[in-house]
This record gives sequence, structure tokens and C-alpha cells, in this order.
Amino acid sequence: MNVKCVVCEADVSLPENCCEGELVVCQDCGTELEVVSLEPPAVEEAPQVQEDWGE
Ligand SMILES: [Zn+2]
Repeated sequence: MNVKCVVCEADVSLPENCCEGELVVCQDCGTELEVVSLEPPAVEEAPQVQEDWGE
């Protein structure tokens, strides 16, 4: 099962027993993608963990 990376549109393959909320990493651009749907497969850019970024 493949989805398109929302950032670079590369094909990203989802693991066999993938479930919603799972994180996959785009091999092309390194972006973390969160699986938001399986039927049909869809991903969104995973929210960045906001650590002490000092902003
Ligand atoms: Zn990508």
C-alpha cells in the first residue's frame, strides 16, 4: 500500500499492518508523515514536537 508524500509527492509505502495514527518517514525528504486514513490511504505531515524552541 502506497501513499503520496504530502511534502514532496514521492511514493511512500505503508507497512502491512499499518493503522491510523502511525508515523511513517518519507524516504525521499525525511518528513514524518502521520497516517490519517487507510481507506483510502492518506497521510498528513506529522505535527512537529514543539520542544523548547525558544520562540
Ligand atoms: Zn517526501
